[in-house]
Amino acid sequence: MYQLGLSPDKPIQFNCMLYFKPLSWLFIWALASAPTQPTAPALQEVTAPEEVTFVPNHKLFHDAHTRYKASSITHRRFKHRDIVPLIEKLQGNPLFEVKKLGASAQGRDIFIVKLGTGKTKVLLWSQMHGDEPTATMATMDLFNFFGQQDNMDGVRKEILSNLTLYFIPMLNPDGAEIYDRRTSAGVDMNRDARSLQTPEARLLKAARDEIKPHFGFNLHDQNTRYTAGRSAKPATISFLAPAYNHEKDVNEVRGNAMKLIVSLNRVLQEYIPGQVAKYSDTHEPRGFGDNIQKAGTSVVLVESGGMKGDPEKQYIRQLNFTLLLSALQTIAHKGYEAEKTDAYYSIPENGRFLFDLLVKNAQVQKAGQWCSLDIGINRGEVSFRDATDFYYRSSVEDLGDLGDYYGYEELDAKGMQLIPGKVYPTVIPNAAALKKLDFKSLLKQGYTSVRMSGYDQAFTYFPIRILTGQTKRSNNVGFGTNPDFVLQQNGQTRYAVINGFVYDLVNEKNGIKNSLVE
Ligand SMILES: [Zn+2]
Repeated sequence: MYQLGLSPDKPIQFNCMLYFKPLSWLFIWALASAPTQPTAPALQEVTAPEEVTFVPNHKLFHDAHTRYKASSITHRRFKHRDIVPLIEKLQGNPLFEVKKLGASAQGRDIFIVKLGTGKTKVLLWSQMHGDEPTATMATMDLFNFFGQQDNMDGVRKEILSNLTLYFIPMLNPDGAEIYDRRTSAGVDMNRDARSLQTPEARLLKAARDEIKPHFGFNLHDQNTRYTAGRSAKPATISFLAPAYNHEKDVNEVRGNAMKLIVSLNRVLQEYIPGQVAKYSDTHEPRGFGDNIQKAGTSVVLVESGGMKGDPEKQYIRQLNFTLLLSALQTIAHKGYEAEKTDAYYSIPENGRFLFDLLVKNAQVQKAGQWCSLDIGINRGEVSFRDATDFYYRSSVEDLGDLGDYYGYEELDAKGMQLIPGKVYPTVIPNAAALKKLDFKSLLKQGYTSVRMSGYDQAFTYFPIRILTGQTKRSNNVGFGTNPDFVLQQNGQTRYAVINGFVYDLVNEKNGIKNSLVE
């Protein structure tokens, strides 16, 4: 029987209604399963009630997050140099043991941070894909959480006396430097767990083999347009207990990961109902999660996806903080043991039914014929200023009948004609003249581009496309093109769509984040 590991002062109250009482429960179970005496009255069949599961203090974690937030990190495109001081600072606190695990191919230090004294070992690694930083942000917040002393001391003690934690934040600092998935060798590190050709992969493999953790957290970000099943809701968090073979067998190691995910899904439903999904469990023999699961560590993959209104993923960072602390507390209590793997299978799979903008039912002229088309538009990010910032370049990802799809933003163009944007006939002489333009009036007339020379940037915040030189450019809407058109109703321009953003000309709402310069 395990110890609950509560500190003597027990400052934290559990959600008692749902709290798992293992001793009493087992006692009833033992009675029920004991050989029946012929004279004994028939015992009622005792089954575990649905609600006998461990509930971590997730609401406390969620609501207190701002107290622990590493305030120097405010957006996704932070670099190795931004987290190094946060890690080095931990060396001043005897709670943390900070070691250099090694270095990336370009010589950036990769650290491992150890804390806790418990028997159960947990290894958490983040950002093996350089452009997947959400969990690294949450890891910095977790360091602050563990490093402080306050009314959460009870939970800290529970976790750190039962578990030994090993964090490897930002495994791919070279990729993070240019906000790219791959390592500087151009290799996808998560396809290098078998052949180990990159130093970053070798470091993770060596750490796993030395520590032999009971649990592992493989922390990633996924495409923001993934949905929870076929629903319109984004898969804000997706989980996976990676398969260790092509048959997708479930042994105790993988089963424990599944059970933990069931518990974490229940936690997240409180904050993002319907926005949790399951990543594909196709076995990837070159993947880290798959191999580490195979080696005997219960691996939970966490994929941070998208959420409306959170482009910099700061709320998803808070959710990561909440779910990781919940996971650690649940492991400390072996709370996952009471869960059922069946519930894992009922978490919806990742779907791909979201566009950034879905224009529905537009009348579009194709080869002289008017037809009704839906247009699915995604807004891609292009890095600039050494990948510390980005601008958007959008493209038409699909067009036709997109009746089963959804948009983060949707525009019903029923009864409207889609007219390709026109180029304003007068060349704009300079930036001062550009500033003076009445953009709204130009858009109303169907002009979505102006010509000028000497605009030495790839994009502009003005709500109009800038064409430099005399390049002829068609604004016809087609697969893969940059969306640039107006929608007219009864001959009046109602909306302009420029670089995949909508300018509502009737309500005078300019939703254009940036236009392109071409
Ligand atoms: Zn990834």
